[in-house]
Amino acid sequence: MSAKSSFVVALDVGGTSMKGGLVTESGAVLLSERRPTPRTEGPDAVVAAIRDFISHLAASGEGVPAGVGLAVPGLVSADMAVYAANLGWRDVPATDFTSLDVPVMLGHDVRTGGLAESVMGAGRGVQDFLFLPIGTGIAGAMIVAGEPYGGASGWGGEIGHIPVFPDGEQCACGQFGCLETYASAASVGRRYSLRAGLENVRAEQVVSSDDPVAIEIWDEAVEALSLALATYTLLMDPTMIVLGGGLAEAGPALFDPVRTRLVKRLAFRSAPPLIPAALGVDAGMLGASLLGWRAAGRPELGPGWALDVRSEPLVS
Ligand SMILES: [Zn+2]
Repeated sequence: MSAKSSFVVALDVGGTSMKGGLVTESGAVLLSERRPTPRTEGPDAVVAAIRDFISHLAASGEGVPAGVGLAVPGLVSADMAVYAANLGWRDVPATDFTSLDVPVMLGHDVRTGGLAESVMGAGRGVQDFLFLPIGTGIAGAMIVAGEPYGGASGWGGEIGHIPVFPDGEQCACGQFGCLETYASAASVGRRYSLRAGLENVRAEQVVSSDDPVAIEIWDEAVEALSLALATYTLLMDPTMIVLGGGLAEAGPALFDPVRTRLVKRLAFRSAPPLIPAALGVDAGMLGASLLGWRAAGRPELGPGWALDVRSEPLVS
């Protein structure tokens, strides 16, 4: 193989930081770095920072990258970053993100992470599953027939805004009783802080506390999650549900009660297993590398692709 096509540049663009790297076609990460996202400086500054970061990464590799892949938030198609509320951009063509003369492909951040879990992570070998990172917010990647599914307009997978409590609290999105309002890491911390009269308590502290108020807040989060996951299970019949993000670090304190309640809630069918995500904070960047390889004309680097650098599937 020539050095010319031995790696792609992959970038996961988040609201506060960007994770970038050089990744080979077998999924090996040759280099990874993190830079802040200058979102307070406006959308043009963010695009310029991305372009600079990609050039810097590319120059660190031997030869020219085969392609560039980017995971970005908001509404996105393969060749256009259509809209991102937190970064302020509208209709930015994929080619604006790099000054390199190589093919570029964009993907939605969570769906790109789901693609990585599907190809080289917890969902390897599984055709239908839900990837649900629970962090500051909650959004899902619906993996349907081996590919992330974005729906008719690209808004598919917004599970965090499924109304779980019809008369519930108002969500930042404007609706009432959304899953995210009760079960995101930020919401668990915020709701407990408010009810206990404290400031800035983190979700991990709530989960591990035996304060009755903390137990109640956590119980509501678990209830909200089990309702949303029952809905997803009944609608999509997934092989499994992969939980990731910061809150999944709670381990059995999250998985056990959600599993128990999901099983109890479903009467005529079995509950899918709940599995921890395998790729952690690297999922977005690794997924972006797959987009980079697809842009470079290697569409076969997808589900079922025989990787030799990762472990066997957790569920098959
Ligand atoms: Zn909402």
